[in-house]
Amino acid sequence: MTHDKEKARGVQASGLPNKRFSKDAHHNCSAVDRLLPRLGKLKETGAGTWMASCPAHDDRRPSLSIKQVDDRVLVHCFAGCDASDIVAAVGLSLSDLFDEPLAHHRTPLSEARRMRYSQAAEALRALRDEVFVVVLAADRLAAGHGLSGNDLTRLHQAHGRIMPAADIAAGGAQ
Ligand SMILES: [Zn+2]
Repeated sequence: MTHDKEKARGVQASGLPNKRFSKDAHHNCSAVDRLLPRLGKLKETGAGTWMASCPAHDDRRPSLSIKQVDDRVLVHCFAGCDASDIVAAVGLSLSDLFDEPLAHHRTPLSEARRMRYSQAAEALRALRDEVFVVVLAADRLAAGHGLSGNDLTRLHQAHGRIMPAADIAAGGAQ
């Protein structure tokens, strides 16, 4: 296993054993870097493609194909093992097949979502205030008072504020 590990490292570091340690933290998040050292009989078969022994079944000949595609690694066992079984057999999970752990992707997403929710909350407060203006106008009308020019202008203003606020609130709820 140590021998295979060394071979895997050789593939990664192009013969410079210390290279992986001098790289930044992002490099250590690479899916290939996580997976390849854990596989036996690893052999580079092309640019970003490897063959190795499948860890999920008793594999005499390397029947596991590994391919780097964009920011992830595809694994395929020609004997038919599931990708989830293959990664589990070497102590990884499917999310480890992505260059960065999924947690890294979640952070900015939830940040964006929180931003949308706070915009939505602001929009809902604006809706509440503008609806109050409309209700006041309705009360005036119901009491038999007419609406002044200023009242009418304010009602149109309320309408102009409610429309975009509703859109923002709807966007935040998605
Ligand atoms: Zn297999």
